[in-house]
Amino acid sequence: MSIPSKGARPTHPEPGNLAPVDIGLAERLFDELRRRTGTNRGITRTSYGLGEQIAHDMVRREARKLGLEITTDAACNLYMTMKGREEGPAIFIGSHIDSVPMGGNFDGAAGVLLALSVLSGYARAGIRPPQDVTVMAIRAEESTWFGASYIGSRAAFGLLTAEELDKVRRSSDQIPLGAAIDAAGGDAAFLRSGQSFLDPSRIAMFIEPHIEQGPVLVERAIPLGIVTGIRGSFRYREAKCVGVYAHSGATPREYRQDAVRAAATLVVELDKAWDRLKGEGADLVVTFGQFFTDPSEAAFSKIAGRLSFALDIRSQEAETLERMKAIVAETIARIEAEHHVRFELGRLTGSTAAIMDTHIVNSLSALAKEYGIETETMACGAGHDAAVFAGAGVPTGMVFIRNANGSHNPDEHMDMADFTQAARLVSALCLAPPSRA
Ligand SMILES: [Zn+2]
Repeated sequence: MSIPSKGARPTHPEPGNLAPVDIGLAERLFDELRRRTGTNRGITRTSYGLGEQIAHDMVRREARKLGLEITTDAACNLYMTMKGREEGPAIFIGSHIDSVPMGGNFDGAAGVLLALSVLSGYARAGIRPPQDVTVMAIRAEESTWFGASYIGSRAAFGLLTAEELDKVRRSSDQIPLGAAIDAAGGDAAFLRSGQSFLDPSRIAMFIEPHIEQGPVLVERAIPLGIVTGIRGSFRYREAKCVGVYAHSGATPREYRQDAVRAAATLVVELDKAWDRLKGEGADLVVTFGQFFTDPSEAAFSKIAGRLSFALDIRSQEAETLERMKAIVAETIARIEAEHHVRFELGRLTGSTAAIMDTHIVNSLSALAKEYGIETETMACGAGHDAAVFAGAGVPTGMVFIRNANGSHNPDEHMDMADFTQAARLVSALCLAPPSRA
């Protein structure tokens, strides 16, 4: 583990003196999590299942040792608070501690353990933060289990629907969400009423530290990212291009209704649109994650009459998403006319974009500069609970920690040196929160 500035950067103040953290606690808990929720391949912390419960029990145990005030809500989210010197809204730091099946040890857990290491740092240094600081261990963020996003954080704001509680089932065992919440000690009936446990006006800010799940920080050799916004999305998961199967040798160009050529044209046209909007400064990513003909019907000597694809478009700007939606519709109409095919886009799903609070982004950037910690401001491509807090009107920020080998796999890798820098930054932020006009 290396802490910056001493020796290497003598001009910067030693952050340890100003922003204490207890990295030993985090290291110990990462090891225990790996040991207790590890499987033969990677780690599995099932939402409202055994692995997530083990993680919650561990975190609660540490909070008790630190003398934090502990509460839970009807969705079994866990809140652990260190009282501040003054009454008033609390600073929330948190993330999820479930994982995808056979995932990595750091996705989600890094945020919760970082928050605990900050509060343990204060306790050891005999410091009381200016305002209450609450560590939140959020339930069920990974949509792979229940096919629904941000279950815990949405439940905390009363935003989980009765339909979701009754109808969505866990992929591993088909248990309905409401029953799984009750089994974990929660209260699905309360959630069904739509009452909010959290009052946004009582939360000064929400900070979610998280490993980066893309390659940007590793590629640029920068330890930390300060997130400017979380990308929203619109998706067609089960789209089709329908033409007519025909003989590949006997059908002239003008009589073809070729689903592959038509769909490929859509890929090329949307790629051009992406390049054009990016050139105008828009934040955008466009992905055709699935693209296939039906192997039972398609053949090398046939023009394909059908092609299935999935389209996922993301941006941190709602306006860019709307522009792309219009471009998709207009491009498809043009291709249908030219290629004599039909597109069936199917169900539209998506999530709203969330912009991070500029006061928080600026404060984090200024503190990092002061401590000689290199950071990069960046958009966040994956969904996070932070989007729910921002959507509820809570000033929200995210700190990304460099992470090699991608995420949602057993090989994700975070250096404790980078984690330490992030913890120092969050520790400093809670001691000197941004004042707002
Ligand atoms: Zn995560």
